[in-house]
Amino acid sequence: MVKQLCILGSTGSIGTQTLDVVRANPDRYAVYALCAHRSIDLLVAQAREFHPEVVCIADESLYEELKEKLSNLQIFQSSNLPMPKIWAGADAVAQVVTMPSIDIVVAAMVGYAGLRPTIEAIKAGKTIALANKETLVVAGEIICDLAMTHHAPILPVDSEHSAIFQSLVGEDRNEIEKILLTASGGPFRTYTLEQMKTVTAADALKHPNWDMGAKITIDSASMMNKGFEVIEAKWLFGVPVEKIQVLVHPQSIVHSAVQFTDGAIKAQLGAPDMRLPIQYALSFPERLKSDFPRADLFAIKDLTFEEPDLNRFPNLGLAYDATRRGGNIPCVLNAANEVANLAFREGRCAFLQMSDIIASTMAKAPFIAKPTYEDYVATDAEARRIAEEMVNSK
Ligand code: MN
Repeated sequence: MVKQLCILGSTGSIGTQTLDVVRANPDRYAVYALCAHRSIDLLVAQAREFHPEVVCIADESLYEELKEKLSNLQIFQSSNLPMPKIWAGADAVAQVVTMPSIDIVVAAMVGYAGLRPTIEAIKAGKTIALANKETLVVAGEIICDLAMTHHAPILPVDSEHSAIFQSLVGEDRNEIEKILLTASGGPFRTYTLEQMKTVTAADALKHPNWDMGAKITIDSASMMNKGFEVIEAKWLFGVPVEKIQVLVHPQSIVHSAVQFTDGAIKAQLGAPDMRLPIQYALSFPERLKSDFPRADLFAIKDLTFEEPDLNRFPNLGLAYDATRRGGNIPCVLNAANEVANLAFREGRCAFLQMSDIIASTMAKAPFIAKPTYEDYVATDAEARRIAEEMVNSK
């Protein structure tokens, strides 16, 4: 009964923490395939430890280097372990997820790149442990329709959505009145607009509550991450965004909650550690013993909640706008944000300019009411082009 995993984005923050869970539960999980974008040395180290059947690198230009580094490994030279198959390129990533032996695909690639392999995994009927929220932001409707048609369960890895999912266990027939989506507020929660004008990527990356990659850490600081999570929750739980309320909760102990029609609120609490929601997505409906840190409520003492300030964090408002307009606009939101986020990290635009770039791109991109997959591909490219133009004019 060992579950075979395919991990997309194995060298990223979620990927490495997924491997922590596998390492702690070798009787339950094995790694069938590892896919990374370009962190070749860590990928090779992971292959040495977990000996997967397939190792896949999304950046095709690294194929030869990966092949050489893997074949030099002692473990594949001296033992009777077979060399893993080595695949490269975006087509390979979209193909590897469909391999018959795979039970669960952990979708933990960053950004739009996660869309196509996730669609292929759903079509192959795999269980999806979904960490790549951009997939639902961009194409939530297509993803949800496909998941229904192909009976592919989508289990949330995002900590807030895992908390909501956990709060909904046993509530199948009960209506949700409201989703209470918590946010840490990020490193600039208490900054004035004036102070926010001059913050740098280094400032944002300094003290997050959660251990995350660079892209999502910037998204958290700008609250675009929370905007995406509103859209993610809408699709995962079938709740209109008007019923999803964001609460800034700096302690990051209440991971989110559900309010039911009788007024009861159910929440999931715990220490901020991504391994818990990752493990729950893999083991659902079971809970596995873990040695993850426990939340000490005596030490924490206060749990506080405040309303988000849309004036200082306009991205959150933009995300609500995007989902109200619907069609391909959330896809535009995501593409413009990917461009703005990278430009900010590279020092090509200021923190608050990210929101201007995204808002202008949303205003300029052509609207498509009922986009197909091909429309999303075209929208993504066009929105990136517009957003790049905005960055260059700053
Ligand atoms: Mn989250």
